[in-house]
Amino acid sequence: MTGRRFLGVDLGATNTKMIVLSVPGDGDPAIQSVDSVRTGGEDGHDAALDRLIRVFVAKLDADGPFDGFGMGTPGLFDVDGVVEIFTNLPGQWRGVRLRDRLEAGLGMPVTLINDARAFTLAEGRMGAGRGARVLAAMTLGTGIGGGLMIDGKVFMGSTGIAGEISHQTVLLDGPMCGCGNRGCAEALARSDVMAEMADRSSVEEVFAGLAEGDPACVASVETAAKYLGIAIANVVTFLGPDRIVIGGGIAAAGDAMLDPIRDAVWRHVTLVPERSIDIVRASLGPEAGAIGAALAASEAPALPRR
Ligand SMILES: [Zn+2]
Repeated sequence: MTGRRFLGVDLGATNTKMIVLSVPGDGDPAIQSVDSVRTGGEDGHDAALDRLIRVFVAKLDADGPFDGFGMGTPGLFDVDGVVEIFTNLPGQWRGVRLRDRLEAGLGMPVTLINDARAFTLAEGRMGAGRGARVLAAMTLGTGIGGGLMIDGKVFMGSTGIAGEISHQTVLLDGPMCGCGNRGCAEALARSDVMAEMADRSSVEEVFAGLAEGDPACVASVETAAKYLGIAIANVVTFLGPDRIVIGGGIAAAGDAMLDPIRDAVWRHVTLVPERSIDIVRASLGPEAGAIGAALAASEAPALPRR
């Protein structure tokens, strides 16, 4: 078996994960190694990017040859790989020619993919979304990402932003969202918003309080689930997915978070039989974004090895 090998990285707010993925011509992709390095956005985007490129080059040299490089990004970029918005990542990233900088530094072509779309691709191919024909996926955390996979391909739409499930308006004139709209599901159900609602310092504390029956924590989870449920119900009604995969830090609470979301979804869906669509927890863990970035690179046109 002569598999192709890809380096996938997930540019995170605090840490950047690196995965070496082998992709055989037949059979399942396999993770060969996992690493994590500090992102360092607080040093400024230029310093962070230069340092990360040195780390990536060292990895390519030490573990090569590689057939491609993919990066999952915490936000949106244009068709030329220029950053439009990176939420939650310290530094002034807007306008940075990310793909050009990476390709010049690494000496090889680079595939960029939004981190939530990378998560969707990974879960759809190798995780909890495997086998679904129409898959909707969400990551719940400090931000709320989303993605769609239809007939085995992540659907990007004409603008590359298709799948932003959590930026649907679910509360008219609701709180301002990082995207500039009011009342998005993200603005009502982010982890910091959940913590604030319950007057706790973190969402983990909210779930601890929920387990003890603390009324403020119960209300926080119910409220977040209510708005997420509206967003997911709209997706169910409009797109007819056969599975919804939910991951990210908040989903680590398991059914304590998923059951209220399931209840909320089925309060708003009437056109398909109740509970007929699986809403399940993601299975690949925090490496899903890097795995998806490597998979995205593996789907780019074949290129010379480096
Ligand atoms: Zn929004």
